[in-house]
Amino acid sequence: MDPGHCDVGRIVAEIAGEMRGHEHRGKVADYIPPLACVPVEKFGLAVVMADGTVHCAGDAEEPFSIQSISKVFALTLVLGAVGDQVWKRVGREPSGSAFNSIVQLETEQGIPRNPFINAGAIVLCDVLLGGLQPREAIGQMLRFVRELAGDDSIAIDEVVARAEQETGFRNMALANYMRAFGNIHAPVDLVLGTYFHFCALTMTCRQLALAGRFLMADGRNPVSGHSVVNPRRARRINALMMSCGHYDNSGDFAYRIGLPGKSGVGGGILAIAPGIASIAVWSPGLNRSGNSHLGQLALERLVQRTGWSVFEPR
Ligand code: GLU
Repeated sequence: MDPGHCDVGRIVAEIAGEMRGHEHRGKVADYIPPLACVPVEKFGLAVVMADGTVHCAGDAEEPFSIQSISKVFALTLVLGAVGDQVWKRVGREPSGSAFNSIVQLETEQGIPRNPFINAGAIVLCDVLLGGLQPREAIGQMLRFVRELAGDDSIAIDEVVARAEQETGFRNMALANYMRAFGNIHAPVDLVLGTYFHFCALTMTCRQLALAGRFLMADGRNPVSGHSVVNPRRARRINALMMSCGHYDNSGDFAYRIGLPGKSGVGGGILAIAPGIASIAVWSPGLNRSGNSHLGQLALERLVQRTGWSVFEPR
């Protein structure tokens, strides 16, 4: 199928319609009240094409907690700040374990397997705090995603950030454990405060798909031409999203969907069809690995109908 020649607007609307009545929606994250009260019926899909056309359907204009999807933007900022130095402190291998798992940290001397699990993103926050105060790092992240999306209304939900702080005992354990190995340098409470604020970023599907545009276009904003990262770096971020973006479900995501993607426990997924589109989907019901159940199903149908899998011969 020629990926450039399908009626994307119709397919997006069709998929949103199919998801609306779907019976099996997974289970909404309930570890903090602001996530537990999100209605499981929500479903949004936004697709931004390389030429700037945006196709939205369902609840694509409703803000939700992007949670771990922020780890993609954190990695991009850290690569900009310290370049490949970051790989001395974080690995690039799929973890095969849960997003908040501590087990591999012992055998791997406090080096998290990849930047897209909690331990990895906590190290990213620590790297950012090498040169900034938490308030500055949080401000930098907010400015960055606003600029990427071209939308100044993107915000951090302080209620979510506080709830993460009050319940984040596992994350505290991860940070303290890594500190014991010398892989956290700044005070743990400052590192976690930064991490929790990144998790609490709130965006709509439209804003998220717009923010992901640089990853479909070799590191540039395809409309303005403005360079965010160089082409090699964009490809490498995509490679990590493909191999590590869905925790212990990453292999299955690659198998079923065949796109770089990053999920969050708020039920969002950012997926990239290189050269073609940036896609954001949101449905708060999760599967057992903490990934959006209908989000994955919607993406599976989208790639089947458009031929956008990176494994599709071009
Ligand atoms: N706030 C969550 C945590 O740190 C983020 C996890 C996720 O989205 O995967 O536990």
